[in-house]
Amino acid sequence: MIHLKTAEEIELLRQSSLLVGKTLAAVARVIGEGVSTIALDKVAEQFIRDNGGVPAFKGYRGFPGSLCISVNSQVVHGIPGKYELKSGDIISVDCGVKMNGYYGDSAFTFPVGDVKPEILDLLRVTKESLYKGIEKAVAGNRMGDVSEAIQSHAEKHGYGVVRELVGHGVGKNLHEEPEVPNYGRRGSGPKLAAGLVIAIEPMINMGTKSVKQHSDGWTITTADGKPSAHYEHTIAVGTNKADILSSFEEVEQVLKERLIVI
Ligand code: MG
Ligand code: MG
Repeated sequence: MIHLKTAEEIELLRQSSLLVGKTLAAVARVIGEGVSTIALDKVAEQFIRDNGGVPAFKGYRGFPGSLCISVNSQVVHGIPGKYELKSGDIISVDCGVKMNGYYGDSAFTFPVGDVKPEILDLLRVTKESLYKGIEKAVAGNRMGDVSEAIQSHAEKHGYGVVRELVGHGVGKNLHEEPEVPNYGRRGSGPKLAAGLVIAIEPMINMGTKSVKQHSDGWTITTADGKPSAHYEHTIAVGTNKADILSSFEEVEQVLKERLIVI
């Protein structure tokens, strides 16, 4: 069942989502060569708890981390560990927070050191495709309008759009109905209504759209070993435009300060 949120609930979802954005910014400050992904996870967990939240991913179906950290050909659900970042890597950081009973969910892919221009293009286009989808998250449209906008923008650049993993409703649960696919047909799928809160999260591969499951039971990687990017916002469908509840503002401020250009 799809549950539309009240204005009060949307404000609580915004608080949780904004804490996710601030957490991603705290992580962005310390991303760099030689830094392990488990060190980033510790920064995030501490930051979330210091700010009154609970890391939503920790313990979710047994997931060990507070963040999903997916490097290079890892698409999503990477487990933080001993791996130390090196120049040329890209790292997708996905973060969820629960606070006051409501969740927030957002993700950002960062370059580490000198990243090849064609990989930076993948990052840029994936983020653009997220915003193309958000533009369509307006009451009266259908989910397929959001999905198609994401898919067509990514495929226009020759990228593969992951099919197996999708966005989702967000509320008192981290994952609620409806599903938010990153591929689809315009005019298809459930009708969008104001108050519907969803996480839109394109996972876009430089090569094939095919993915495989790693033997750790969590990590999803591209089938061809080429890089993959992931950006996500939690948004509320609005009458005239979507209300983006999470924010990349702090993350982008940190990138600017650190002279990191995507
Ligand atoms: Mg997420
Ligand atoms: Mg999500």
